[in-house]
Amino acid sequence: MKKYAVIGNPVHHSLSPMIHAQFAEQFGLSISYEKILSPLGGFAKDSMDFIVSGGLGFNITLPYKVNAYEFCSKLTLNAEVAGAVNTIKVERNEIIGDNTDGIGLVNDFKNNLQQSFEGKEVLIIGAGGATQGILKPILDCNPEKILLANRTKEKSLKLSQKFSKYGKVCGFGLNQIKAKSVDIVINATSASLDGKMPEITGGVAQGAFCYDLMYGVETPFMKWAKENSASKVSDGLGMLVEQAASSFTFWHSKTPDTKEVIKLIRAKVD
Ligand code: NAP
Repeated sequence: MKKYAVIGNPVHHSLSPMIHAQFAEQFGLSISYEKILSPLGGFAKDSMDFIVSGGLGFNITLPYKVNAYEFCSKLTLNAEVAGAVNTIKVERNEIIGDNTDGIGLVNDFKNNLQQSFEGKEVLIIGAGGATQGILKPILDCNPEKILLANRTKEKSLKLSQKFSKYGKVCGFGLNQIKAKSVDIVINATSASLDGKMPEITGGVAQGAFCYDLMYGVETPFMKWAKENSASKVSDGLGMLVEQAASSFTFWHSKTPDTKEVIKLIRAKVD
């Protein structure tokens, strides 16, 4: 049986084993997919142990996406640009790293939410690892511009400089967001994990499509978006399944159907 896994800390909450089991069933593939809890400082050893035991690929979740980037012998362009890896494939003595978070988000917008980035003004809040992964795939969809706001302004300025070769990105601080509506607002902060709302003006949400990368519960950001007249609000569950689908394709060269799996995972987390 072909061996796959997800490595992180914590990892008990991960839905990836269930998602990959569903995808494998679609193609009659016999795979195992385990959760590996790796203690802080133990990522490289645990990853190598898994590979030596016959592991053919694994996903990487918090806090190890940058460690995974450093661990790989080869990177895809998305991983190289993001500076972080969420999927590793072992092939012909190479450890190849990819980052499927951004493609997952773009595919969720396109295939499940019928939202296009083309010509749109997009506000992204947060400048952490997730934002690094989604910036280039969104810029590849030709938005009018990306406004990148972060609590620590230096980080959004740095990222906007790094990504400006792929399209128009303006970095600024959270307190500099104008009360003028935009087309799309994406909450890519980890504030929702703490049940918090980033402090931003409500004016931006009016008539906008508002999306929180976090999934499973109505987050304070989603509640705020509804209260501030957003046209549509979504959590990031579709992105979770779509990024897993891209990992699956990276490993097995097969494209799974995501619609039924999203429904199944939705029923599980609601
Ligand atoms: P990260 O690297 O730790 O970055 C956290 C970001 O959130 C930073 O920009 C930080 O600002 C900001 N932040 C945290 N608390 C805040 C608050 N109270 N107010 C304003 N800003 C705040 O985290 P990450 O890896 O980017 O992950 C971000 C979120 O995306 C997490 O909720 C994660 O679960 C989610 N995610 C979802 C998927 C999916 O498939 N749906 C995939 C990847 C990530 P400072 O720079 O000022 O500290």
